[in-house]
Amino acid sequence: MQRRELFSFLSASIKDAAREKPEQVLVVRPPYFKEVVDGEIDAFDIECQNCEGLCATSCQEHIIVIGEDKTPSLDFSKSGCTYCDDCATACTPNVLNIEDKKLINAAIVIDKTKCMSWEGVMCFSCKDPCLEDAIDFKAMFTPTIDASKCTACGFCMSRCPSYAIVVEEVA
Ligand code: SF4
Ligand code: SF4
Ligand code: SF4
Repeated sequence: MQRRELFSFLSASIKDAAREKPEQVLVVRPPYFKEVVDGEIDAFDIECQNCEGLCATSCQEHIIVIGEDKTPSLDFSKSGCTYCDDCATACTPNVLNIEDKKLINAAIVIDKTKCMSWEGVMCFSCKDPCLEDAIDFKAMFTPTIDASKCTACGFCMSRCPSYAIVVEEVA
């Protein structure tokens, strides 16, 4: 076994032991809602209470989950958002509207402490699913996400074997 392969094997073994799928705690809304201005009540807290989750049912990527508060949020643990408009079209109470379409309000970042590539192990699992080519590898290692290109679609997250890609609030 070559030195690099040995190092990769050992490092991957260590990662295997440490690998744990984190729970997404941040509430990320589908990308079609109207911003609430001061004094207004959020439409999610009114209209969604009497809805059977039409948006979640319509999402072919199955990334919309209806929470205990009966409002929808995105879960990137299995797939990502194609910005297909289906959830907005399905939302007859008009909480989600195509006219309010915007990028998903979240920052997708790589946790360097969990990423195998930052440990010297060759891995490009997140690169292929990124249609925006937003993940920069320097000399084939140390990937970072270029926020100016990233649409926060979340497709890279479920492809990372180390669960190193996380969703954070926009700074
Ligand atoms: S379809 Fe609209 S009203 Fe129904 S849960 Fe989804 S966002 Fe709320
Ligand atoms: S835009 Fe399409 S893929 Fe994205 S959350 Fe809505 S239905 Fe799902
Ligand atoms: S979340 Fe950003 S980096 Fe990840 S696949 Fe989508 S555009 Fe690319």
